[in-house]
Amino acid sequence: MSAQSATAQNLSFVLEGIHRVKFEDRPVPELKGPHDVLVNVKFTGICGSDVHYWEHGSIGQFVVKDPMVLGHESSGIVSRVGSSVTGLKVGDRVALEPGVPCRRCEPCKSGKYNLCEKMAFAATPPYDGTLASYYILPEDFCHKVPDSITLQEAALMEPLGVAVHIVKQADVKPGQSVVVFGAGPVGLLCCAVAKAYGASKVIAVDIQEPRLKFAASYAATSTYEPFKASPLDNAKRIIEENDLGSGADVAIDASGAEPSVHTGIHVVRAGGTYVQGGMGRSEITFPIMAACTKELNVKGSFRYGSGDYKLAVSLVASGKVNVKDLITATVKFEDAERAFQEVKAGKGIKTLIAGIES
Ligand SMILES: [Zn+2]
Ligand SMILES: [Zn+2]
Repeated sequence: MSAQSATAQNLSFVLEGIHRVKFEDRPVPELKGPHDVLVNVKFTGICGSDVHYWEHGSIGQFVVKDPMVLGHESSGIVSRVGSSVTGLKVGDRVALEPGVPCRRCEPCKSGKYNLCEKMAFAATPPYDGTLASYYILPEDFCHKVPDSITLQEAALMEPLGVAVHIVKQADVKPGQSVVVFGAGPVGLLCCAVAKAYGASKVIAVDIQEPRLKFAASYAATSTYEPFKASPLDNAKRIIEENDLGSGADVAIDASGAEPSVHTGIHVVRAGGTYVQGGMGRSEITFPIMAACTKELNVKGSFRYGSGDYKLAVSLVASGKVNVKDLITATVKFEDAERAFQEVKAGKGIKTLIAGIES
């Protein structure tokens, strides 16, 4: 399997089936509409969902039937613009927002385009992802980054956008306490965004001690490793250790793990907010009585919507959120599969794949 070919125009990293990937030179895509932009992809972060497709060939109802290009956390340089594009020019450095909504359905028209019924999202079957030399998006889904943000950092705008959306759903206010379950990239970024929103206590919870160590050095004001006890007992201990009074103002789950969901519901004070950001099993048992009697605001959070990337870029540009520290390694495009293996093995926090040098 040779990744390098002198004639390669749009080398793409394609998933054919479970653990079956290949490099394929595909045609450079053509601009379809006057608002389209062709981006030369420079860096792509590997996400849990990419690894899941690579390992299992499906996520929930999304099944990889035809070969699909992986990747959706990308940055790049504008290499061609459509005739009606006004906000971008060739050479601009951009973070890619990799889901294009229909703009016509009810959720789209009501302003929640992340809930679009016809969303075309990168590396979600049947749509190809961004692990290619070139990718096309409408101009309003290419977010220009200032010179102070590197293209490596720009690739992290995608998970940061996810975290921004979660924290907005949680409606975090200055001085509040926030408990974040899961200290992977999105959980860590939730900690950082909650802090930027003025949360005074941000508690990271995870079952892996090295991750908690990192969280403490990164954005969490304290950490908690659950012990073998009921979720209720773990919640009590989180409240005691952190002096949270009758409970946390906000709990965010960025793990998708059932015990975290339980503990999260129990750790929130009466009238507080719980946001589900993590995706794990599709059905779990749930402490519904606690949610009822505490009148919790229980919300979901899915991808990102209007203004989320803009805020993500400004949080990094202003130095309020650091994404650089989350980048553990950058591998060559030719070594893309190795990056998947390392992410699967739990090595580091965020591994980037560099684009083909052009
Ligand atoms: Zn992702
Ligand atoms: Zn729509």
